[in-house]
Amino acid sequence: MSQPLVVLGATGSIGRQTLDVAVRLGIEVRALAARRGSADLIDLASQWPDAQIVAAAPTGDERERMAASLGDRASFGSEVMEDLAATPNTTVVNGIVGAAGLRTSIATLEAGNRLALANKETLVAGGPVVLAALKRGGGELLPVDSEHSALFQCLVGEDPTAVRKLILTASGGPFRGSTLENLEQVTPQQALAHPTWNMGKRVTIDSASLFNKGLEVIEAHYLFDLPYDKIDVVVHPQSIVHSLVEFVDGSLKAHVGEPDMRVPIQYAVTYPDRVAGALGEFDFTSRSLTFDLPDRKAFRALDLAYEAGRTGRSAPAVLNAADEVAVHAFLDGRLGFLGIPEVVERTLEQVPVVDLTTVDDVIEVDREARAVAHSLLGGAC
Ligand code: MG
Repeated sequence: MSQPLVVLGATGSIGRQTLDVAVRLGIEVRALAARRGSADLIDLASQWPDAQIVAAAPTGDERERMAASLGDRASFGSEVMEDLAATPNTTVVNGIVGAAGLRTSIATLEAGNRLALANKETLVAGGPVVLAALKRGGGELLPVDSEHSALFQCLVGEDPTAVRKLILTASGGPFRGSTLENLEQVTPQQALAHPTWNMGKRVTIDSASLFNKGLEVIEAHYLFDLPYDKIDVVVHPQSIVHSLVEFVDGSLKAHVGEPDMRVPIQYAVTYPDRVAGALGEFDFTSRSLTFDLPDRKAFRALDLAYEAGRTGRSAPAVLNAADEVAVHAFLDGRLGFLGIPEVVERTLEQVPVVDLTTVDDVIEVDREARAVAHSLLGGAC
């Protein structure tokens, strides 16, 4: 049976789908947390009358409104999230981006709890710190990203030394097959039209540039403890094969299904059990699945991510921060699509690589990388 849940980022897409899974499976929800004390959060509070409701960084007005309508069920500040995440026998679903999400992830793992991690930036930026907390506290780290859940599921029952390669699938985004010249001209609107998954803005742009896949390669390295030359990417436009593992005997195991985040969320909270869920039988009518190699010249993000991953230490945190700054500049019309990898590459060249041992180290590197990326945008880019 699944443990009670603490859902961080409850009002976001992962949070809502987690609550859908919790309703379906009758799992207790101990707490719901979001950054802001929005009307959406208060609305969720009425649907979950037994849950503690936390706003990590509410405005004064939001705080008053929450206190008035929720009484002692309402609490405030990211430290409260950390305390809740450390409650014994709790599964924490973390869909929160940024430093508050990272600290809560660490608190979860240090307390020996299960962390269902939906936020790839946590692991990309803070990989060494998160893994150290996992080791110290003896918690469990379960991926919620669809590709990593797929890999995790393919690896269940297998000997890790029999793995030849992890193969992440990429939809290729809206510009699959585009040349460098075509990419020069693309607009934010075109980049936001993702063919198969419906996601937030940054991850959609990152999918169009293949940065998202690069971040996922780094995430896979930390989750499965394999070197980068054993992690590959193939383009698979239909998004039906969520990833594959190739074994030393030449066998491949693939995780296949409709793209629906409730599947990886449910597996992360019920593992090692597999129980009935939201999806019905797979429909094979006129399906065709295709695969191809990514175009690494047109989509430079992939090689930049491999390079940052191999450098390790703070380099992936710099990659992540610089990409976020560059994506915002692209969305605001201040930077071309091909400027995104350029800003990231130049930021990586300028920010010194250091060891990461604490969350504060990660925050400092993140701050420095953002400052450098912003200064590059103010200049020639
Ligand atoms: Mg993914």
